[in-house]
Amino acid sequence: MATASPAKPRAIKAPKVKDQPLFIGGKWRDSVSGKTFATINPATGETICQVAEGDKADVDLAVAAARKAFDDGPWSRMAAAERGRLLYKLADLVEAHREELAALESLDNGKPYRDALNADLALTVKCYRYYAGWADKVQGKTIPIEGNFFCYTRHEPIGVVAQIIPWNFPLLMQAWKWGPALACGNTVVMKPAEQTPLTALRVAALAQEAGFPDGVINVIPGFGPTAGAALTSHMDVDKVAFTGEGSTGQLVMEAAARSNLKRVSLELGGKSPNIVFADADLDAAVEGAYFGLFFNQGQCCCAGSRLFVESKVHDEFVERLMLKAKSAKVGDPFDPETTQGPQVSQEQFDRIMGYIDAGQKGGAHMITGGNRVGTKGYFIEPTVFTNVQDEMRIAKEEIFGPVMNILKFDDVEEVVKRGNKTFYGLAAAVWTRDVKKAFRLANGLRAGTVWVNCYDVFDAAAPFGGYKMSGQGRELGEYALSLYTEVKTVTVSLD
Ligand code: ADP
Repeated sequence: MATASPAKPRAIKAPKVKDQPLFIGGKWRDSVSGKTFATINPATGETICQVAEGDKADVDLAVAAARKAFDDGPWSRMAAAERGRLLYKLADLVEAHREELAALESLDNGKPYRDALNADLALTVKCYRYYAGWADKVQGKTIPIEGNFFCYTRHEPIGVVAQIIPWNFPLLMQAWKWGPALACGNTVVMKPAEQTPLTALRVAALAQEAGFPDGVINVIPGFGPTAGAALTSHMDVDKVAFTGEGSTGQLVMEAAARSNLKRVSLELGGKSPNIVFADADLDAAVEGAYFGLFFNQGQCCCAGSRLFVESKVHDEFVERLMLKAKSAKVGDPFDPETTQGPQVSQEQFDRIMGYIDAGQKGGAHMITGGNRVGTKGYFIEPTVFTNVQDEMRIAKEEIFGPVMNILKFDDVEEVVKRGNKTFYGLAAAVWTRDVKKAFRLANGLRAGTVWVNCYDVFDAAAPFGGYKMSGQGRELGEYALSLYTEVKTVTVSLD
């Protein structure tokens, strides 16, 4: 995501979208109940279209289709290289439709179209391509055990995988989940977030065009407590991969435990420390601090939402960040000048405004922002708090919005300790020219990713995931293959 918005695309119009069905077993169909729900344009608060609302009965059909494709279908007999070829084809199709998909993502999520195109789409295509390359390289080992045996391992697909994704990076989260799951030979039932179901369905259509056999991919839009819960408690689902809030992650794990002990991987929230030393390249650090928090309207699980600034440069740093926040252009996601779009929903808007209120009441200084922008849609001014203390609510809880909290610090050991004083451990960053400090922080921070003199650098090859309550397992890179494979040990007597 560090490559967001290098170029301004031409101005385009928000697309028109038809009502959307579910995708089950290669067929586009209404939900069994006939129910639909509205997906909302966060820039206006108006309905984009109706979407078929999946529930337990639809989940049952989708899981049965995925089971059949896994157990008996052409998928189970397909050469691994052929699975890779299909993934390459999907990557090509997503790339060919990148402007259409970026517009759809921008419409449904509210992110600026140019960010959707330059960041989300670019990373999505690379992710499918990366895992296409892995498909025929998933392999076991031979193991020299005692005695006259030939012992080897096979890395086999787990089976039917449920994948539940959030609304902040819908296309990219779909790619992070479909890429490794399909490369390893699983079949999938995906539930996109109820706020942003549109691009997942469009990519399913492209996957069908690419030639994925019926039942290998199923998409069930719907709500968490209904469609989501039906997936996590399903006895014929072998694994669930979830990205979302920590409290939902706990429900997912509980449902998995109480049903069939299906495998679980989780990517949850964060309260990531972003640490700026006085000896840093301050121009780069100001850019990185701003981008690390405000990118995607502050709706990133790895947002640098605790910005620690060394006392010596604190005042200058704060002044520069404030000017940057004031110069942001908040507005229509399809305007090429826009740098910040709306929050995804009324619910998120209310929640963020609640945190802004809590920050002020808790004694932090709000030096810019704090207000709604305009009269329709869910726009919030970039907001910056200084004088933030570790125990304040805004310093402890995930805000998931354009609200920056700045804390002061004086020395290395102090900031390692304070950086780690959280239940989360998703990401962290440090800005310094001193190699010793950089390594002390890179080693000392308890987080799944540490960026040094950069922020939000993502690559399909670099693993991502959380320590502590930020999750379980690592997505991306070779590490993600272990989330989607079982290891089988085969021992053959040679006597
Ligand atoms: P957010 O606050 O980002 O919306 P959630 O954790 O509520 O985070 O949502 C992430 C995904 O989890 C969405 O697809 C949502 O529908 C789904 N979800 C919510 N509740 C449940 C649940 N009880 N079981 C399974 N999935 C759920």
